[in-house]
Amino acid sequence: SSAVTSTTKIVLNLESLGSLPADEAGPLARYASTIQAQRHDYNGKVLSIRAEDLKSLAIIYDMSPDELTSRLIEWGVLSPGMESIVGFGGD
Ligand code: C2E
Ligand code: C2E
Repeated sequence: SSAVTSTTKIVLNLESLGSLPADEAGPLARYASTIQAQRHDYNGKVLSIRAEDLKSLAIIYDMSPDELTSRLIEWGVLSPGMESIVGFGGD
């Protein structure tokens, strides 16, 4: 079995996400929009997502979770330092 563990919440910066080119950020933007709709939460500048969701997003982007985390930091969507905080246990 695999387990995703995290000691800190994954917090997406929605303002940065909204200013990225759609061809790069599109899948992530749609995923975040869906979560906002499910929560009825449309007002935030940030959105906390489940650690499991990062793993799903990595599959969508055809990257490892670590690679996607680095990309999200490059895009300014995640705060620097997350790659050492988010851990993906098991496999
Ligand atoms: P659900 O997974 O059955 O969760 C039902 C309710 O449990 C949520 O209603 C929320 O009030 C609470 N809940 C579950 N997990 C957490 C958590 O880690 N932290 C907090 N603070 N509360 C939690 P809510 O927020 O209205 O969400 C409704 C449904 O939308 C959820 O049903 C789930 O199917 C989906 N959803 C919402 N946010 C996410 C997300 O970040 N990722 C995913 N994959 N689904 C989400
Ligand atoms: P996590 O699953 O990695 O979720 C991280 C954060 O995403 C949560 O922090 C919450 O801010 C947000 N989140 C995730 N799912 C939902 C949701 O369905 N609705 C809403 N409104 N927000 C959501 P939080 O609440 O501090 O929870 C920290 C950790 O505690 C979660 O990490 C999860 O491992 C656990 N947890 C909290 N509530 C529940 C729950 O209802 N069911 C389960 N299975 N785990 C929960």
